[in-house]
Amino acid sequence: MIQAKGYAAENSTSGLAPFSFERQEPHEHEVLIDILYCGICHADIHQSKNEYGGTQYPFVPGHEIIGRVIDTGEQVTKYKTGDLVGVGYFILSCGHCPNCTNHEEQFCDNGITPTQNGKLPDGSTTKGGYSSCIVVHENYVLKVSDSLGTAGAAPLLCAGITTYSALRHNEIGTGHQVAVLGLGGLGHMAVKFAVSFGAEVTVLSSSPTKRESAIALGAHHFINTANEAELKAVSGSFDFIMDTVSAPHDYNRYLRLLKKDGTMILLGVPPENPQLAVGLLTSRRRKITGSFIGGIEDTQQMLDYCAEHDITADVEVIPPSYINTAYERILESDVTYRFVIDMKKDQQQ
Ligand SMILES: [Zn+2]
Ligand SMILES: [Zn+2]
Repeated sequence: MIQAKGYAAENSTSGLAPFSFERQEPHEHEVLIDILYCGICHADIHQSKNEYGGTQYPFVPGHEIIGRVIDTGEQVTKYKTGDLVGVGYFILSCGHCPNCTNHEEQFCDNGITPTQNGKLPDGSTTKGGYSSCIVVHENYVLKVSDSLGTAGAAPLLCAGITTYSALRHNEIGTGHQVAVLGLGGLGHMAVKFAVSFGAEVTVLSSSPTKRESAIALGAHHFINTANEAELKAVSGSFDFIMDTVSAPHDYNRYLRLLKKDGTMILLGVPPENPQLAVGLLTSRRRKITGSFIGGIEDTQQMLDYCAEHDITADVEVIPPSYINTAYERILESDVTYRFVIDMKKDQQQ
C-alpha cells in the first residue's frame, strides 16, 4: 500500500482538513502519479457539502489534476516515470459500450467512475486530487506538454474540456456570433477557446465591472445583462449562446437573443428545472442542447491544442491550508477565475 496525504471533508459541515489514507500499488495497466497541482471546481464544494446527495465521507475532492508519473504497472505502455500527465473528471468507464468504443466515455452506458466520490469495482470510493498521489489506469491518463506544466493547466481537465468539447461538437468557429453567459471558471475558458477558433465573442454578465477583464480575455464585446436596453439591442444576434451558469436564472431572457436556427448550449445544471417559453423556440426554430465534459481522446486533443496555442486558465495558486477560505471566496464569486492548489506547499508531515 502507498501512504497518501490528502485533504478531506469528514461530514457535510466540517470543511476540509488534513487526512491520511492508503492507495493501492499500481496494478498491471495503472500508473502512480505524484500530484503537483489540483484545481478547485464548483462541484467539489457541492459534493463536500452533500448538496447532490450521495457523498461518501471522508470525501477527498479534486478532478483537475496535474502531476508526474513516479511508478508504472508492468503492462503500462503509454507512460513512463517522469512524464507530465493530467487526470480529469473520471478515472474509469466500461470500455466496451458503444459510447466508450466511440471515444465518448463520458456518456458510458454503464456509468463512468468519477475521480472523486466514484464507486470502484471493489466497492470502495474514489478519492480525488486534493492529495499527494493518485493511481489511475493508463487509458484514463492524459499527456501534458511540459510547456503547459504550470498551475494554469489544471483547470483544463474540467473547465477546459467542458467548454472545448461543446464548441467543437457544435462546430463553432469563424463566421459565428457567439455569446458566453457568465464569466467564471467555465466562462473564461469558453471565451478563450471561442476566440481562438475564430468566432466573434460577446460576454453577457450582470457584473459591469467584468467588462475590462472580458475584453482582456479576448472577447470582442460585452453586454451588461442588468441593463435591459443593452440586452434588447442584441436580440436575435447570436448563432450560439454558451450558458455556463448553474445558478437558477431565466433562460427565456437569453433565448430571444438567438438568431433563427440559433442554439443555446447548456453547460451548468441548475438545482431546479426552469420554465421554458416554448414559443421562443418554435417562432425562430431555435434549439437548446447540453454538453458534459468530454471523452479521453477529445481531452487529449484539447491539451495538445492548448500547448500549441499557448492557452491555459487564469488562476490564483494557493497552499492546501487555504482550501476552506477559497471555498468561501468561490461562493462569493471572488476568484479570477479558478483556484489551483499547489499540492507541494505546506503538506502535512
Ligand atoms: Zn469540475
Ligand atoms: Zn462504456
